[in-house]
Amino acid sequence: MDTLTGIAGRVDFLSALDSEIREHKQKDATLAVALLDIKGFRTINSAYGYDIADRILQQVAERLQSVKRQQDIAGRIGVDEFGLVLLNLKSPHLAELAANKLVTSLDGITLDDAHPLDVRIHIGIALFPEHGDTSDALLLQADRALHSARETYQLYKTADDSHQAEISSSLLVRELERAINKSELELYFQPKVDLKKQRLLGAEALVRWHNSERGYISPEEFIPLAEENGLIFPLTLWILNTALRQGVEIRQLWPDFRMAVNLSASTLAEVELIELVMRALRTWDTEPDKLMIEVTESAVMKNPEASIETLHGLRELGVILSIDDFGTGYSSFGYLKKLPVHELKIDQSFVRGMASDVNDGRIVQTMINLGENFELSVIAEGIEDEQTLYQLMSMGCHHGQGYYIGKPMNRRKFLNWIDESEWTRPALAEPAE
Ligand code: C2E
Ligand code: CA
Ligand code: CA
Repeated sequence: MDTLTGIAGRVDFLSALDSEIREHKQKDATLAVALLDIKGFRTINSAYGYDIADRILQQVAERLQSVKRQQDIAGRIGVDEFGLVLLNLKSPHLAELAANKLVTSLDGITLDDAHPLDVRIHIGIALFPEHGDTSDALLLQADRALHSARETYQLYKTADDSHQAEISSSLLVRELERAINKSELELYFQPKVDLKKQRLLGAEALVRWHNSERGYISPEEFIPLAEENGLIFPLTLWILNTALRQGVEIRQLWPDFRMAVNLSASTLAEVELIELVMRALRTWDTEPDKLMIEVTESAVMKNPEASIETLHGLRELGVILSIDDFGTGYSSFGYLKKLPVHELKIDQSFVRGMASDVNDGRIVQTMINLGENFELSVIAEGIEDEQTLYQLMSMGCHHGQGYYIGKPMNRRKFLNWIDESEWTRPALAEPAE
């Protein structure tokens, strides 16, 4: 038994599966193995700590227990991987129905207000005898289906039926289209601060999609989908306008507030974008330097010539530009010289590793120096603890962003944060230079 969750552990689960396979062979009956994986569990672990992560595992196990039929077998077979054996299936389709029920019951596990995260899962299914007749073969097929579900933005998938993938992903595209029109989307705001003056600068707008049936869908899932399906323009239009509109409200509390918006690769290569930005700035009566646009190195590199031209156009408008995820791409100094940007944003993978890995610390220091040589301001993202914050301050990093300073918050929470945060109060003492 697994001590954390109280359900079967890996060994018991596998031996129960083996003996059920033998029985079902004799009865000439069908069974299904479902593998269930928690999306981004590692991020949950590193962002919220082991205690919270453990509580999530316990809750997943509880829901699994309460959704399954009594005869079915549930087990925890990896750190964040659960298995379910569905016995005596009358029809193979019932496995997908069960998966659907599971997904619905697991969607939106939340802990409490302090930890407003939504748990999302993927399920891969394999059937005995259709996809294999040993536990190893079935687990392998279920695992493949699980990976493919993840890649095609499906919540669950049965082994070997690629046709289903297309249907479901086009369904998601239609839902996204509706979401843009119905405004199921929402912007969250994460503070960006000046580490030298210890003062709020602005915030990054991060889009959120709450789908009524599927629950929370990560931007990392639907932004690429929108890019591939021609929805990125309407989506970007909505994001820009919403961000600027809310910026007007925020500036009543914090007058020099600057709103940062992310732009994806395909919009960056469109000259039309400049017109779109100009119109949005006019609509919301916003000074161009109160808007920052973040683009990743890799987005620029997808189509360097067109992107650099767009960036020049935006810079001429007076918009502030930032290179996101800096250090993860492969841009050469040659390109860096050509990019008309104001800010380098050091990727969070280096920042989060700083406290424990001296090499990450050295890389961060090198990037700060690089920024100074190119006369660019440097912001570190992914600051998760006090130690990293102070380390960055002493390294001379200009700006910062991360969970330790403030998590992405909805509009209301962000306004409260401005009211209450120490980053919006005059510093007691200037930090040592
Ligand atoms: P990004 O632009 O690199 O955004 C930073 C991501 O890191 C955000 O995830 C944020 O919640 C997370 N983060 C911030 N501070 C910390 C920290 O201290 N620790 C950890 N572990 N994570 C931190 P999110 O909101 O899920 O966004 C993921 C990606 O989705 C973004 O990466 C961006 O590429 C894309 N995205 C989000 N919103 C938009 C948007 O409005 N438009 C476009 N084009 N892309 C967006
Ligand atoms: Ca960003
Ligand atoms: Ca980033």
